[in-house]
Amino acid sequence: MEKIVRITMNNGTVAMDGLPDIYKTLGNRGLVAKVLTEEVDPTCDPLGEGNKLIFALGMLAGTGFPTGNRLSVGAKSPLTGGIKEANSGGNFGALLARHAIKLIVVENKPGDDSSYVLVIQANGLPKLVKADAYAGLGSYALVEKLKAIHGDKIAVACIGPAGERGYANSTIQVTDNATGHPSRALARGGIGSVMGSKGLKAIVVEPTKTRAEIDYADKEKFSQAMKAYMEVLSRNGVTSRAMTLFGTMVGMAVTGKTGALPVRNFSGERSTILNDIGAHKFHQNIYQRGGKTGQACQPGCPIKCSNIYNDKDGNYLTSGFEYETVALIGANCDIADLDQLARIERMSDDFGIDTIELGATIGVCMEAGKLAFGDGQGAQALVQEMIDGTEFGRIMGQGTLATGKFLGVKRIPTVKGQALPGYDPRNSKGTGVGFATSPMGADHTVGTTSGAAGDSNKIGRVQMSQKVQIAYAAVDNFMCHFASFPLTSTHKYAVGHIAAAMAAKFGGEWDEQKVFGIGIETLMLEKKFNRAAGFTAKDDRLPQFFYDEASPMTGATFDFTDEELAQVLPF
Ligand code: SF4
Repeated sequence: MEKIVRITMNNGTVAMDGLPDIYKTLGNRGLVAKVLTEEVDPTCDPLGEGNKLIFALGMLAGTGFPTGNRLSVGAKSPLTGGIKEANSGGNFGALLARHAIKLIVVENKPGDDSSYVLVIQANGLPKLVKADAYAGLGSYALVEKLKAIHGDKIAVACIGPAGERGYANSTIQVTDNATGHPSRALARGGIGSVMGSKGLKAIVVEPTKTRAEIDYADKEKFSQAMKAYMEVLSRNGVTSRAMTLFGTMVGMAVTGKTGALPVRNFSGERSTILNDIGAHKFHQNIYQRGGKTGQACQPGCPIKCSNIYNDKDGNYLTSGFEYETVALIGANCDIADLDQLARIERMSDDFGIDTIELGATIGVCMEAGKLAFGDGQGAQALVQEMIDGTEFGRIMGQGTLATGKFLGVKRIPTVKGQALPGYDPRNSKGTGVGFATSPMGADHTVGTTSGAAGDSNKIGRVQMSQKVQIAYAAVDNFMCHFASFPLTSTHKYAVGHIAAAMAAKFGGEWDEQKVFGIGIETLMLEKKFNRAAGFTAKDDRLPQFFYDEASPMTGATFDFTDEELAQVLPF
């Protein structure tokens, strides 16, 4: 039987019950949206006692379905003021699923500055432990201390000092399956600070020897559908070869060529440092130093897009070094040194900050002349200011919009208060439509689409953005985006295997419409929350400079009218 755990932080109560039926056919992002719309006042203070922090597993968690053990965490965001869900791989979801715990709801906050760790013990029972000694620890040191107590095989979701200090760009870090280090990030929206506001430093999941029983309508048919989908993944060139070899960095060759790669604070220029930070250099550095690509960030993932990146001496530096980090801190800041970027990523994972928000924040600092574009040492010094808690470091900790306003910058690349990820919307127009209209704000999980600079088919881009946003919102209920590539690319029939798996798991009739209907339900809940929080159609817009300034590389502007954007997700 699947379970829900509720932790009430003002009195230390821990309760575990059976999962209500209404929560069974939603997962991850959809489940976060469901609980938040039902239980949280959208006008609440994100760091106050009324907000709740939701840890949710997917609809197929624990079944062995590829990438089905992804973890989502959500809350009202201190960065956007709206609903937020961030998701990550790592080993946390798989271990939690073995205990059949699908949902953890963290409520209220302690009356003092006490710090706690929630332990899901090997016997399956949750226990809240006072942990003031861990306050202020970076995530790497914290995980080592927790392993010394609970063993090497645990999973950890934790915050670094940034979350404890209420930084609006703070993450929740998760232990990576391949390395055991806390290098996977639930990165966006500042949810680390919500965890910090509740006095919760970490959740530890101890392994259990016996896997909890999972209910199936028809287990044999589920196994057949799962096998069929695994075959689809193994036949798809992106999921079986390109991503395994180059990870998410495989995207840089495309975005660099089309101008979608953000360059020098989203200037729209062509990047001149692609040879220094592109996929081939990345691959070369990894293999020459004894690092690895082809790593599974969560147990059982057949795509294995993760990596281990060593320094020049062959010592571990970071893992899960991704396109978004290199795009934002590299190309967007014109820093042509992968090792410097990897060092900044390691600092960010340890301190607990979002590298997308960070890269955009450093970009506006460069635009303001606080440091020069390309100054990698200067960028690292700014991260150190955040860690040291200097006055400017604390301003940076409130994100790109706050930093840009403080510095008087006019070109601030944010939507709903959140920095754009690694795609310039003038040169990837369908993606730009998604960044403008998603209830998540500009987010890399919204769904990237085609639509290059010269594409005049605006209606097509609007329709495509809606379709992809719905598809990705659905996928965000049950697996990793990268495992869903066959659904939207060459193997359209693959959705039939997903529908068959759902029918075999939950019973009843399932088809493509019902699978993607989960995405519509999720988006409707999210939009409902945001409307009640005060968002209007005016918030579904990109910053003005994308409309006014043509990309020097392509001549394109973001030329969608308010009426055209209003056609996206009209519910
Ligand atoms: S595809 Fe990549 S990010 Fe997704 S679960 Fe597998 S290794 Fe992790």
